[in-house]
Amino acid sequence: MEKSTAYFERSKKVMPGGVNSPARAFSSVDMDPPFIERGKGAYIYDEDGNKYLDFVGSWGPLILGHGDEDVVRGLQEVIEKGTSFGAPTKIEMEMAELMVESLPNVEMVRMVNSGTEATMSALRLAKAYTGRSKILKFEGNYHGHSDSLLIKAGSGALTHGVPDSLGVPEEIGRHTLTANYNDLDNVEAILEANKEEIAAVIIEPVAGNMGVIPMKEEFARGLRTLTKKHGVILIYDEVMSGFRVSFQGAQSLYPDIAPDLICYGKIIGGGLPVGAFGGRKDIMSLLGPIGPVYQAGTLSGNPLAMRAGFETLSKLQKNPGYYPQLEAMAEKLERGILQAGKNHNIPVVVNRVGAMISLFFSHEPVTNFNSAKAADQERFKKYFKAMLEAGIYLPPSQFEALFLNIQMTTEDLDKFIDTIDRVFSELS
Ligand SMILES: *Cc1c(COP(=O)(O)O)cnc(C)c1O
Repeated sequence: MEKSTAYFERSKKVMPGGVNSPARAFSSVDMDPPFIERGKGAYIYDEDGNKYLDFVGSWGPLILGHGDEDVVRGLQEVIEKGTSFGAPTKIEMEMAELMVESLPNVEMVRMVNSGTEATMSALRLAKAYTGRSKILKFEGNYHGHSDSLLIKAGSGALTHGVPDSLGVPEEIGRHTLTANYNDLDNVEAILEANKEEIAAVIIEPVAGNMGVIPMKEEFARGLRTLTKKHGVILIYDEVMSGFRVSFQGAQSLYPDIAPDLICYGKIIGGGLPVGAFGGRKDIMSLLGPIGPVYQAGTLSGNPLAMRAGFETLSKLQKNPGYYPQLEAMAEKLERGILQAGKNHNIPVVVNRVGAMISLFFSHEPVTNFNSAKAADQERFKKYFKAMLEAGIYLPPSQFEALFLNIQMTTEDLDKFIDTIDRVFSELS
């Protein structure tokens, strides 16, 4: 790791922590990160020539693997014609049509440049629509880094939020309430205590940022009933789960529950920087230029990003076999991880929804943030390091999902399973 180490030192001089996004620094696993030079298919290669089987996939977007030929060809075509115009283009229209035609409850959509922008803008819209100023989010759910969403829980169910980050004014934190995931009584109590004040409930329908934890069916149903009753906009944050847990995302796992607004990102950019939010036409119509809610972006709907996303979504749509294939692969991993745990007497919990999968070193079922946090961090660090050394690149935290891609082969998965079995034998 000679070159990576040297580059990391150089980067740290000119970039805070040497990175442009904190998790990449590997600080949660007490390691220095490899610098990645290139990727092809299921593999990435670092600057020192090491090869890794990649279970991060740029944190979700690369469901087709690295350097998918259709995405690359599409990007090459666009580059020839120009990279940005700040004017309407045909590919934006085609991308919006594809999303509106294929996604439930998305009647109109607006493209932005990141998931952060998508959730931030969806909340502004919900506040405008309801004329209310508070929002409710769930402990352990991540919605990007805008001020009002960087809040975890207060001490009790009804306390106001405390910012997770310095620089988020307390006044803003006070407008963000937090509830326990999968706990309907908690949600009901908060909605009752803040009547006519809460504009929106925002939730990851399949949470992926505290490890994988899905909404329970009755919870999902109850959440929709309660938000309707209180006139609260229900926002699904599908930035991670969209086009990941199925083509229609988490929405298709909870079929007759209709959120009002839905946020997307990650896969819809095919590896380029993108986010989007969409939903009910009457709410979306409040956006400028036709409505009073301001929202804009110099590079929003950028032709390169739109084309990469369009190629990705079209390919997924044309190949309905991909999702069962990904699911079967994830199921194989799940069985392999559980078996390795059994073989070596390591308590391990695997949570999986479709091809979103994570493991916790825990005895207890993991259904919310508290049970996720109870998992053994020290064991995770050792596991992570040993896997990396064996050429398996995992998200550097127990609170992240592993992402499979359609380029992974049976041999790749066998390699993962053999490695984890050996690593567990060393950990036990
Ligand atoms: C990644 C993620 C975001 C933030 O998206 P960025 O593009 O990193 O700003 C928001 N919500 C969820 C559920 C995410 O997984």
